[in-house]
Amino acid sequence: MRHKIKGIVIRETPKGETSKLLTVVTSSLGVITVNAKGVRKLSSPYLKSAQLFAFSDMLLYEKNGFFTLSEASLIADFYPIREDIKKYSLACYLADVASSFSIPGDDSGIILRILLNSLYALENDKNSSRIIKAAFELRICAECGFLPEVSVCEICGEELDGEEITFNITEGVSYCKNCAFNNGNDLFLTRSVVKAILHITESELTKFISFKISEKDEEFLSACAERFLLSRAERGFKTLSFYKHCEELP
Ligand SMILES: [Zn+2]
Repeated sequence: MRHKIKGIVIRETPKGETSKLLTVVTSSLGVITVNAKGVRKLSSPYLKSAQLFAFSDMLLYEKNGFFTLSEASLIADFYPIREDIKKYSLACYLADVASSFSIPGDDSGIILRILLNSLYALENDKNSSRIIKAAFELRICAECGFLPEVSVCEICGEELDGEEITFNITEGVSYCKNCAFNNGNDLFLTRSVVKAILHITESELTKFISFKISEKDEEFLSACAERFLLSRAERGFKTLSFYKHCEELP
């Protein structure tokens, strides 16, 4: 069976003398492993499409659940990201999370779109890397059924409009001033952080990274997004430690 898809390579593993096994986030097949024969030969027409973060139109051949690359045409290579260790380390983490949140056979292409928009923003410095990371984390959670509730108090049902709120990381719910009790797992969020969370989770996919926030609020947003994602993923990411290590480099 043949599949015409768009896909981005998020992992490449050498196979034999000249081939690679590629992990690809696709527009209609979720995240799959693709056998790319001969792509390590300099003469291969698909050399560029078989590299990390290469985004391409691909023609795949499927047999017994195994995919082989038949043709590829490069759309974007995100090469500048691979030349900057800080951007590269963040892109590796985003790819890792995308792979971990993907649903097998998902034909919506939503994970691919979130990842592509984030890499585009990262490549072109559309926002700080910390905001790109936080926006990616919260949007991918929201699209995968983990929408953080920041509009209504979980206990009394009061609308949380314009007030500082208390956000419970593990439950993904919020409490008003009267109902808040600190169980050690809560974060206080200012109005602008709440506004940013609503923008990230509710705006169009082309705009969820485009917003401004003060440096202090950026810190809270960043902590909130990372902790929320990690509690949903129920696992750690080595690529996250790598990113943090690279962030500290001069
Ligand atoms: Zn309340």
